[in-house]
Order: sequence, then C-alpha cells, then structure tokens
Amino acid sequence: MSGGPFRVIEGGRTGEPTPGLLIVGAAEIATLAGGVRRGPEQGAVGRIVADDPASPEAPVVASWEGRIVAVGPRVAVEAALVADGLPLARFARIDAGGGALTPGLVDPHTHLLFAGSREDELVLRQRGASYMDILAAGGGILSTVEATRAASEATLLTHGRRWIDEMLTHGVTTIEAKSGYGLDLETELRLVEVAHRLGREGPIDVVPTWLGAHAVPPEFRARPDGTEAYVRHLLDEQLPGIAAHGRARFADVFCEDGVFTADQSRRVLEAARSHGLSPRLHADELAPSGGAELAAELGAASADHLATPSPEGIAALAAAAETDEPVVATLLPVTTWFLMKDHHAPARAFIEAGVPVAIGTDFNPGTSPTPNLTLAMSFACVNLRMTPDEALSAVTINAARSLGLEDEIGSLEVGKAADIVIWRIPTTARIPYHPGADLVRTVIKRGRVVLDRP
Ligand SMILES: [Zn+2]
Repeated sequence: MSGGPFRVIEGGRTGEPTPGLLIVGAAEIATLAGGVRRGPEQGAVGRIVADDPASPEAPVVASWEGRIVAVGPRVAVEAALVADGLPLARFARIDAGGGALTPGLVDPHTHLLFAGSREDELVLRQRGASYMDILAAGGGILSTVEATRAASEATLLTHGRRWIDEMLTHGVTTIEAKSGYGLDLETELRLVEVAHRLGREGPIDVVPTWLGAHAVPPEFRARPDGTEAYVRHLLDEQLPGIAAHGRARFADVFCEDGVFTADQSRRVLEAARSHGLSPRLHADELAPSGGAELAAELGAASADHLATPSPEGIAALAAAAETDEPVVATLLPVTTWFLMKDHHAPARAFIEAGVPVAIGTDFNPGTSPTPNLTLAMSFACVNLRMTPDEALSAVTINAARSLGLEDEIGSLEVGKAADIVIWRIPTTARIPYHPGADLVRTVIKRGRVVLDRP
C-alpha cells in the first residue's frame, strides 16, 4: 500500500526483511521508558541527548526480529549484541542523520471508519448552530450513519487505508478505531470487522472498539421511549452479536446530557464487561454529565474528551489515579477548537491531580476531521497548556496504557515492539512547535521500515 510522495516499504530498507536494525546518528532519543506517566512525571520523557550524533558514545537503538534488544551508547550496544551472539553483519544500519527518535505514536481515540463528509456543518457552526442543534435537526452523526449504512466493506476498507496512510506519515504506528456509525448490528459488525482487517493488513496496528452507544438511530428516535428502547436493543442484540464476533476489544458509550445518561452508560458498559469488552467512554464533552465519575466507578481504561468535568468528576479520577489501575484522561483538543469552543479540557488540573493524560485526534467526519496526531499535540500545548514533553508522554506511553498495551508499545525499552519514529528535527520539543508540519523521516513498525523519506 502507498500513496503520496513517500515510500511505504514492506520488509527492510532494501525490500528484504532483515532480522536486525541498528539506528545510529540520532541527536536525541526520547525513550519514555518506565511505564505510565502521571503528575510531575507526565513530562519525564527519558531523554538521552548526543552532543555529537556520530560519536561512539552517541545513543542508538537496536532491534532483532521486531523487538527492541538494546538502547544506549553505540559502542556498548554493539559489544553487547556481539556478546549475545547477534552478529553485527545481520543488522541493517540506519543513520538518523541527526534527527530525534521516539517510540511510534499511539492515537487512542479515532472514529476511523465512516462514509460521507460534513463540511457544511462548519458553516452552520459559523452561523451559531451548536453540536446538539445540528444533531437534533437530523444532521451530525445521523447523516454519517445514513451514508455508512450504505457503504460496502470494500468502500470502508479503501477509506480506512487512505487515512491510515496519512496517520503513518505523522509517525503513528497504533490507533484505536471505534465503530458507532452503524447503530444496527449488521453495520456495527461490518465496522468492527473492517477495523480488525486493516490492523491485520498493516502497516499500523488497529484496536477495534464497539461504540454502538454513539447516538440513538433514526428508527428509534421517533418513539417516545426511543433512547431506552435503543439501550435495550444494545443490550439484547448488538452487544451479544459483537461479543460473539470476537474482534472488538473495548466498548465505548457517548455519556452526555441529551445522548446517554450515566445510568444508561453504566448498564451498557457493565454488560459489555461481562461479555469480555473493557469499558472506556466519551465523558463530559459538552456539559458535566457524570461521565468522569462513572469512568472512575467502573475502573474504565480511559475517560475521553473531559472538556467540562465537574469538580467531583476530577476528584473521582484523582482518587482512581492513586491506585494501580488509574483511568487515563484522554483529551481531544482538536475537537474543542474545531467546535469553536472557548473552553478546553482542564489538562493542568488533571496533571496536578496525578491523573495520567493521553492525547488523541478524535479523527471523525464532524468535529475533528484531522488525522494528524502531532497537530493534536500542538493544540494540547497551546490550548491545554501542556508542555511539549507532557504532550509526548500523552501520545506514547500514556496512550498505550489507555489501550491496555503499555507492556507492548509506547516506549523504547528492551523487549517491547520495535515501533520507532525517526524525526527530521533534532529534538522532540519541536514536534508541537511546528503545528501540522511534515516532520517524520522514517517509521519503523515491528522492526521493519514501513515509511521512508530519504
Ligand atoms: Zn469520539
């Protein structure tokens, strides 16, 4: 697969898979080693800086058969590889050319799969229409549902590949992808299946989430008890079908005043958990709706958006953060900006309360149509007042944690997947400093170069 003026390469740099990779010549490596970041540690990225990237003491990363086997000074790493019986001749050497190295980025909140587009809503919002006004008039999510129900699996696969290709160009190697534009069993299954297949196909990993509780579909809205009837449909039909299909890893609910109440969300997520799907939720995006409190009560993997949590909700997440199973606050700063809000998620309050913060794009056709996770980092710095280092933790190890993958990805540590980005800039501090810019030189997924701009 490919597209654009870059090469997406299957196999090693020569086209042949090589068992080993040795990345040298980095000016800086942000390892993110040491697990989930919270509180004052949110900005500790494990930075190793080289005064001279060509020196024998400059830091390098080595991988073997897709796993990281060493991170450290070049001479010491080479000696250790030889001592371990891994001949240097079997390592393809990549020169980072004075660029920075990070783990592959993780986008923990996307609505990757949909059909149609909603550019007209931008103009409606300019004229003062709110998200809920547009939804109530049958637009918003409902227009996407109509188009998505009519889209074939092949159409959705083509659409998914197009956007995954672009996410890759911004250094993303793993994404979460929600269903939620079908709102009937048949279409929700198609969306989860396509997400699963895109991950199998590569080059990036895709974690499917079932979001049947995204909105109440048109056929239920006309009924006086429509929302409650749809919740019963979710519990009795969609969830058992999705669980039997076996592809979705998480269940998500849009817990928001006017969509699903905290009580309805609790019923869906508890039932989902009993079917083996871990809970995460859209919480307090537009108004305090009890979402943060519910996420803490359920021990959800993640509470997302959180633009308008109540003080009690922040306190509940702070209490959860003191346990071994903190709920990650996944903030989506592009969305509040694109919705023309002047109020943003209180990232500083979460960090000060010790809540681990992740950042996602919320890629979707209505409220955040950008696939660019580094742009979301810029918004996290400008509008949420996060530091560049805090934003980097938020799109690597903390995003991995929100997907339950913190032992596999999100940091450059021995034993983890060799998902690595070589940047065209010498320090990661410049990633959010150039909003929307093209900053990635090379992307490595499980030890294979999958994108390269010579
Ligand atoms: Zn969302």
